[in-house]
Amino acid sequence: MTAPRERTVVVDGKALASTLRSEIQHEIARLVAAGHRPPCLAVVLVGDNPASMSYIKGKRRACERAGMTSREHDLPADATQEDVVDLVEALNRDASVDGILVQLPLPKPLDASAVIEAIDPAKDVDGLTTHNAGRLVAGLPGLRPCTPLGILAVLERHAVPIEGASAVVIGRSILVGKPISLLLLERNATVTICHSRTRDLAGVVREADILVAAAGSPRLVKGDWIRPGAAVIDLGVNIVDGVQHGDVDFDAALGVAGLLTPSRGGVGPLTITMLLRNTLEAYQTRHGLRS
Ligand code: NAP
Repeated sequence: MTAPRERTVVVDGKALASTLRSEIQHEIARLVAAGHRPPCLAVVLVGDNPASMSYIKGKRRACERAGMTSREHDLPADATQEDVVDLVEALNRDASVDGILVQLPLPKPLDASAVIEAIDPAKDVDGLTTHNAGRLVAGLPGLRPCTPLGILAVLERHAVPIEGASAVVIGRSILVGKPISLLLLERNATVTICHSRTRDLAGVVREADILVAAAGSPRLVKGDWIRPGAAVIDLGVNIVDGVQHGDVDFDAALGVAGLLTPSRGGVGPLTITMLLRNTLEAYQTRHGLRS
């Protein structure tokens, strides 16, 4: 017998993002009212990839609405590695810049890892430098990657118990799988990380109180893999025949999962929100304003 769909809380990522953004906006308004300048995010775009240009537009709008300054630094598609690194280093030295984001992917043959490594860790609002990744592994404070922070925000704002929970993460990327695994471990979950060589993926997933699916494989997770009542976070953005699918079979998960994020409008809107929060945090830390 199929359980009623109402048993599943479907996360409204847009609404949650809006709540969190107004909290950030209030904090910035408070700082500005106290005589401080607003935080400033510098975004570096190399080339004219339409998807990147659209993401940057969204980020600029989000910054403006939150009361932050957003600065764009565009370089041509044929910019050299040295051009990009020189720009990042100039932004590192610029005291009016609090956060630096290099929009990925970079055009070939640029080496994205070397560019990211050039970012001052104190301004690394994407949390992708090895310095900040190392601090996460070491359990030290630092800027964390935005998408994993968005996942935590979903779990925490829906009061999903993390401590002691069995958390299964599908995917071990540096962007999502590894950092979210460490963040859940930091919050005392018992974490299992799965990947393409995992044996009996279905059996492992069935043990999960919290499932994070970040594989990039459409409808990989079937309804009968999900433990009844589990919190299921679907990161997958997979376009098949023009239709977006997550890594979880959404319809089959309804009525089984206790909480479920849709592929569209789930964690996605929270990623930019966490970029704003990281920029605010970087600003407060650099100016000794953290409460
Ligand atoms: P990625 O770098 O391609 O990593 C995918 C991971 O999933 C790899 O570790 C891979 O294993 C594993 N995997 C792939 N197929 C699998 C399978 N059939 N069974 C078990 N494991 C499998 O991807 P990513 O950057 O982490 O992104 C993952 C997904 O999240 C993508 O769909 C991406 O578009 C989406 N995403 C969404 C957001 C958002 O804000 N909503 C943000 C970032 C990413 P191996 O390591 O063994 O290859």
